[in-house]
Amino acid sequence: MNPEITLDPENWDELRHLGHRMLDDMFDYLGTVRERPVWQPFPEAVKRRLAEPVPHQGRAALEVYEQFQRDVLPYPPGNIHPRFWGWVIGTGTPLAMLSDMLASGMNPQTAGIQESARYVEERVIAWLAEVMGFPAGSSGLLLSGGSMANLVALAVARQAKAGFDVREKGVGDGAPPLVVYASTEVHSSVRKAVELMGMGRRNLRLIPVDGEFRIRIDALRNAIAKDRREGRCPICIVGNAGTVNTGATDDLQALAELSRQENLWFHVDGAFGALLTLSPELKPLVRGLEQADSVAFDLHKWGYLPFEVGCTLVRHAGVHRDTFAVAPSYLGATERGAAAGGVLFADLGLQLSRGFRALKVWMAFKTHGIDTIGRLIAQNVEQIRYLVSLLDAEPSLERLAPAPLNICCFRYVAPDLDDESLNALNREILWRLQEGGVALPSHTLLDGKFAIRVANTNQRSRREDFDLLVRTVVDLGREVAAERGTNAVAAKAR
Ligand SMILES: *Cc1c(COP(=O)(O)O)cnc(C)c1O
Repeated sequence: MNPEITLDPENWDELRHLGHRMLDDMFDYLGTVRERPVWQPFPEAVKRRLAEPVPHQGRAALEVYEQFQRDVLPYPPGNIHPRFWGWVIGTGTPLAMLSDMLASGMNPQTAGIQESARYVEERVIAWLAEVMGFPAGSSGLLLSGGSMANLVALAVARQAKAGFDVREKGVGDGAPPLVVYASTEVHSSVRKAVELMGMGRRNLRLIPVDGEFRIRIDALRNAIAKDRREGRCPICIVGNAGTVNTGATDDLQALAELSRQENLWFHVDGAFGALLTLSPELKPLVRGLEQADSVAFDLHKWGYLPFEVGCTLVRHAGVHRDTFAVAPSYLGATERGAAAGGVLFADLGLQLSRGFRALKVWMAFKTHGIDTIGRLIAQNVEQIRYLVSLLDAEPSLERLAPAPLNICCFRYVAPDLDDESLNALNREILWRLQEGGVALPSHTLLDGKFAIRVANTNQRSRREDFDLLVRTVVDLGREVAAERGTNAVAAKAR
C-alpha cells in the first residue's frame, strides 16, 4: 500500500513562518500603495513567464510565493490606489483582507445548515434590511455581486408576477410574453438576466431618460399601457439608484407608486447608490428605495470591501423562497442535528456551496461602525463636488453631464474642433493618463461625446488627488493638441 498523503504541511512551522512573511509583505504593500503608479501595462516578458505547462510536480511554497511577488503582485488593475476612479470598483480594506483569511481558514460551505456562518450572514442581512428601510423579516442573501443580485431579484419578480407556474411550465408555453421595464441607462447585467431567464431581450423595455438621465415616468406609463393593449404581461419595473454612466437616480417614489398602481414588482438596482442609506445627509437622494419589493447592491463597491460581495434583499420572504426552494432527499430538513431547519441559503438562490462572505461584512460593520462607512460615502460625494468646482473653473475642460453623486464625466476642449476630433483627442489623453500611471479614470460615451469618467468609491482618495488629476489632464490636453497642431488658442492661453 502507498503511504497516505495530505495537503497539510509536513512542517507547520515552516509554513507559519512563510505566512507571517506574506502578511508583513501585504501590509507593507498596502501601506505604500500611494508611492506606486496606479497602473502599468502588463509586460510581454511576464506574459511569457506565466505561460507555463501544467505543474505535475510540486515545488516549495516559498518559490511559488516569490514568483507571485515578481509576476503577479506588481500588475494590479489599480483599484487599491488612491487615484483609481475607473468603472465602479471599490478599494478593499486591510481589515477585510484579514477577514477573508479567517473565512478561508474556517472554510464553511455556508449553504445554511446549523453553523455559525449561517447566523452571521442572517445577522448581516437583517442589519442591511434595517439600513435600507426594509421591514423586519425581509429575506435576502449575499452573492458574488450586483449582477447575480439583479438576476436573483428578477427571478423572484417573475415568480411573483408571471401569473402562472413559471417554474413548472417555463416561458413560451403559450403564455403572453413577460415584460420588464427600465431606463436606457440601466446596467447591462439586467439585460443579461432577462436574456438568461428566457424572457427575450425584446421584452426588456428600455425607456428614455430626461436631461438628468432619470427614467421618464410618462414614457414608462405609456409603454406599460401599450404592452397590455397588445397582449403582453408587464411584470417588473427596475429603478436605478446610481447609474454607471452619470450616477443618476430615478424618481424611486414615483416608480414605487406606479408599480403599486400597475400591480408590478418594483426592483431597485442600487449597486452603489443603495449604500447612500448609510449616510444620513445623502439618504434622501434614494427616497422610495424603502418601498421596493427587492433591491440589489454591492458591498465591494461603495462598501469598500474586497471582492466578491453583493446582496439581494427581498421584502416578501415567502415568494423569495418559492422561487428557488427544492427539497431533494439529501438536502431535506431533519428534526435534530446539523441539518435541523434545512439548508437556508440553498433555498434562496442558485448556489448551493457558498463562501463565507458575511464575515468581512460583519467584521467591518462591527469594527468601523456603519456611521464611519456612511461618512466615507459622503466624503466621496464631497470630493466629486470639489472636482466639479475645479472643472468648472478651467476653461479648457467641459463637464458633459450633471454630477449628482460620486461620478463625473468631462472632456478636454480645444477651439475649432468638432466632436469627432475631440473624441480622438480625449481618447489619447485618457490613454496617456492611464499609461503614465498618474490616475485611472475610465471612459464612456454621452450623446456621442467621448467622456473621461471619474467614479469615486475610493476610501483612499484625498482632495489633492483631484487637483493632480485636473492639472495632468490639462497638461496632456495641451500636449496632444500641440502634437496635432490644433492648439493655437490653447497655447496663447498658457
Ligand atoms: C457594478 C454594477 C452592477 C453589477 O455589479 P457586479 O458587482 O459588478 O456584478 C450592476 N448595476 C450597477 C448600477 C453597477 O454599477
